[in-house]
Amino acid sequence: TVEVESLKEKLLSQAQEVSRLRAELGGTDLEKHRDLLMVENERLRQEMRRCEAELQDLRATPAASPCPGCEHSQESAQLRDRLSQLQLEVAENKGMLSELNLEVQQKTDRLAEVELRLKDCLAEKAQEEERLSRRLRDSHETIASLRAQCPPVKYVIKTIEVESPKTKQALSESQARNQHLQEQVAMQRQVLKEMEQQLQSSHQLTMQLRAQIAMYESELERAHGQMLEEMQSLEEDKNRAIEEAFARAQVEMKAVHENLAGVRTNLLTLQPALRTLTNDYNGLKRQVRSFPLLLQEALRSVKAEIGQAIEEVNSNNQELLRKYRRELQLRKKCHNELVRLKGNIRVIARVRPITKEDGEGPEAANAVTFDPDDDSIIHLLHKGKPVSFELDKVFSPRASQQDVFQEVQALITSCIDGFNVCIFAYGQTGAGKTYTMEGSHENPGINQRALQLLFSEVQEKASDWEYSITVSAAEIYNEVLRDLLGKEPQEKLEIRLCPDGSGQLYVPGLTEFQVQSVDDINKVFEFGHTNRTTEFTNLNEHSSRSHALLIVTVRGVDCSTGLRTTGKLNLVDLAGSERVGKSGAEGSRLREAQHINKSLSALGDVIAALRSRQGHVPFRNSKLTYLLQDSLSGDSKTLMVVQVSPVEKNTSETLYSLKFAERVRSVELGPGPRRPELGSWSSQEHLEWEPACQTPQPSARAHSAPSSGTSSRPGSIRRKLQPSA
Ligand code: ADP
Ligand code: MG
Repeated sequence: TVEVESLKEKLLSQAQEVSRLRAELGGTDLEKHRDLLMVENERLRQEMRRCEAELQDLRATPAASPCPGCEHSQESAQLRDRLSQLQLEVAENKGMLSELNLEVQQKTDRLAEVELRLKDCLAEKAQEEERLSRRLRDSHETIASLRAQCPPVKYVIKTIEVESPKTKQALSESQARNQHLQEQVAMQRQVLKEMEQQLQSSHQLTMQLRAQIAMYESELERAHGQMLEEMQSLEEDKNRAIEEAFARAQVEMKAVHENLAGVRTNLLTLQPALRTLTNDYNGLKRQVRSFPLLLQEALRSVKAEIGQAIEEVNSNNQELLRKYRRELQLRKKCHNELVRLKGNIRVIARVRPITKEDGEGPEAANAVTFDPDDDSIIHLLHKGKPVSFELDKVFSPRASQQDVFQEVQALITSCIDGFNVCIFAYGQTGAGKTYTMEGSHENPGINQRALQLLFSEVQEKASDWEYSITVSAAEIYNEVLRDLLGKEPQEKLEIRLCPDGSGQLYVPGLTEFQVQSVDDINKVFEFGHTNRTTEFTNLNEHSSRSHALLIVTVRGVDCSTGLRTTGKLNLVDLAGSERVGKSGAEGSRLREAQHINKSLSALGDVIAALRSRQGHVPFRNSKLTYLLQDSLSGDSKTLMVVQVSPVEKNTSETLYSLKFAERVRSVELGPGPRRPELGSWSSQEHLEWEPACQTPQPSARAHSAPSSGTSSRPGSIRRKLQPSA
């Protein structure tokens, strides 16, 4: 009944839905629009009809009122216009109307369609309704019948429902077990089948084996028969062989017996030999026992012999040592002779390289050339004129510090033998004097190398001689001597005669440092340098106007004889030799120049006087010559290194320096009373020394014939290359 009720309700709602749809369809926009247009259309038609009627009226009365310009005609015109306008509108509306009609037609078509569908829907609904009511009825009937038979069924169903799951489970389990058992049975069957097959095959195998065994047995029997036969034949062979062997053995036995007899006789003859051997052995045994005694004796005699030999060698050594010493003396003499032969005054030139400081342009052009075949010739181009000089040696700018030192080495070692040596660096400022004497830190000059050489030479002689080396450093500026190593460098020092009456000079208060190593020297040099820099603000300028002296004294004592020697090495970096124009200089500069000029001139004068062996040598004309007096006179040795600048702008000074050099070179030092043969020099020289402030020495020019030719060095037949000054 509930179902029936709900179906009824559904039916009702569907009927409502249908009516709603219908209302919706009727009230679409298009239909409204259509209705409106129809109304409008109707209105326009009416208006048109009215207008036509009016037009009719107006046409009926045109003649009756032909009044142009009257208000009616005007109105008529207006009306006519309106009419045409309206007609246009009508035409338009007609078009629109036909369009709308078309649309209406379509709409009505659709409407019919919709109505048709609606009808279908309704029919369906009725069918459904019917079906549902039928089902409803069936249901009612079923319900009624079920109500009649409900209780027993329910019980059965219930029990079944209770039992069936258990049974089902048991059933499925037993089915599974059954399945499993069946599978096992099948498997067992399979195994059984296989075993049967195996059994069958092993049966077959047994049969085969039995057959084979039978075969083997028959064969074995046959082989046994054969073997017996063979054994018999072998037995016969054996018997035969034994007989043969026996016969042979008997023969051999006889031969062995015979041999044995021979050996016996041999043995008898060997016995005496054995006896002599035993005797020998016993003798040797005795000898071995007495051997140590013999050995001792022999050793004693050999020792005595060796001792004697050693003594002989010792005395020989002594003799050799004596000879060696004599040879050493001889060597020293030869060395001295060599130095002497080279000349007591030697002059070398060193040309420095062109440096940045020389500037550029023609002024800095090179004006110096060399002779490739003769290293004692130097050519100078001065004011376009070539001038040549010959000196003892010329070093080109390529020469190293070591090359230069090589040249002066012999002089320095002669200092150890007690000779006094002077090495001067002469030349204009900037020509390289300080470079040659002091050098740079990395490339030291003569000063340091000389001391190093002295150290190593002294060390070599250390077994026989004891030496001490001391150094002093002094400076002469404006004719004032100062100690560069002293505590008060400003103090003026005096040069005095030794009070011992030896005629030697000494400088009281001049500091002397004992040096033993290169380190010591460096310390001394540094100390001197510091003293100088603190003293003078412009050291460069100052040092170019002063003479710097390094005085090395080598004192030696011969350990065996107690003989003493003293040699002095004076290393002098002279003041710049450039001449100052009289007009240019004034005041202190002029004074400096005068002093320099004086001392350098004095040096020249002293050399000239020595050369001419005058009784009076003006050593006292300058502090420099006075200080160096004992190192310039006697058999002292002097080396002058003339420093030369190679550039064009310095040629005047270069010319001056080289002239000075060549003049000095031709002078021989000291007519020493100890060695009278030294007092001569080359007769070919024209000694042209013209001392700047001293009286000329005419005797020098007049000097002639040499007393002996030994003093001039081999190359002293000199070409006079210098143009006459
Ligand atoms: P001086 O002492 O004569 O005034 P210096 O020794 O001071 O001259 O030399 C002037 C410059 O020329 C320095 O800079 C120096 O290093 C340089 N000089 C001199 N001689 C040489 C040389 N042989 N090789 C290289 N440079 C040199
Ligand atoms: Mg200098």
